[in-house]
Amino acid sequence: MQTIRSIKKMQAVARQFAAEGKTIGLVPTMGFLHEGHLSLIDRAKKAADVVITTIFVNPTQFTPHEDLTKYPRDEKGDIRKIKSAGCDIVFIPKAIDIYPDDFQTYVSVEKLSQTLEGAARPTHFRGVTTIVAKLFNITRPDVAVFGMKDFQQAIVLKQMTHDLGYPLKLIIAPTVREKDGLAMSSRNKYFTPDQRPEARALYYALRTAKEMVASGIDSARKIEKEMRAVIAATCPSAEIDYIAFTDDVGLKKVGRVAKSTICSLAVRMHRVRLIDNMKLTGRG
Ligand code: AMP
Repeated sequence: MQTIRSIKKMQAVARQFAAEGKTIGLVPTMGFLHEGHLSLIDRAKKAADVVITTIFVNPTQFTPHEDLTKYPRDEKGDIRKIKSAGCDIVFIPKAIDIYPDDFQTYVSVEKLSQTLEGAARPTHFRGVTTIVAKLFNITRPDVAVFGMKDFQQAIVLKQMTHDLGYPLKLIIAPTVREKDGLAMSSRNKYFTPDQRPEARALYYALRTAKEMVASGIDSARKIEKEMRAVIAATCPSAEIDYIAFTDDVGLKKVGRVAKSTICSLAVRMHRVRLIDNMKLTGRG
C-alpha cells in the first residue's frame, strides 16, 4: 500500500490508474478508524479495481464551539488498519494544502444542509461538501462509499454529486455496530467504562421504534414519546437534541411512518453528542 501526502502526487497517481483503465473507489474518513470505516473499504473493493482511503480531519466541518484539536487521532494505527484491509492507497493531505491561506471557495447544498444536523451545526455540511468535492476533484473516483451512520451526510453528498454532475456512483454502506447495538464512532472513546452502557440508549430507542412499527403503530408522535421514555430510562442525564422521522431522499418530515421512513436522532450524554438512525420498516 502506498501512502501519499501530496495533492499533486495523488492527482498524478489517480490519472495513471484511469489511463490503465482501472476504476477507482474512494473512502473519505477523518481517521481514528474502527470496523465501520473498514467495512467501507471492503465495500469499495467490491465495487472498484483500486481503493483510495483518505484521512483528513477537516477543519471546516467543525462548528466554532467544537474542538478540532481534541478530535482523536492515530495515524500510525490507521495506516496499519487500512493496509490490512487491503486498500491500495492512503491519501493524507495537509490542512494547509487543502485550505491554503487564500482559500475562499465553498460548496454548499442549500436545503438539505439546513435541517436535522444542519440545524444544530449550521456550517457543518458546507465543510463536508467542500472537502468531499475537493477529494472528488483530486482522486476522480468512479465509486465513493459513505456510511449510513451519517445518513444526512450521505443524502447531502448524493445531492451534491447529482447537482455538480460528478461521474461517479455513491454507495451508502450499512452502519456497523458494537455487540450491544451502539453504532461504532470515533467519539465513543470519550465515554468512561461507567458511562459507556448508557450510550446504548440510542439503539434501544431505535429498536423500540422499529418494534412499534412492526406491531402496526405508525404515528410518529406516539413512537417518539416512547423513544424518549426509553432514552430517559437508559441514560437519565441524556439530553435529546432531536428525534426526526423523515423520508430517505428529501429528508421531508413525516407524521406517519411509511416504507421509506428513516428515524434519525441526536442525543447528548456525558458531554458527548451521538447520532444514529434506522429504517423503520423491513430489514436494516
Ligand atoms: P468519519 O471518519 O467519522 O468522518 O467517517 C468516515 C466515514 O465512515 C463516513 O462515511 C461515515 O458515515 C462512515 N462511518 C462512521 N461510522 C460508521 C459505522 N459505525 N458504520 C459504517 N460506517 C461508518
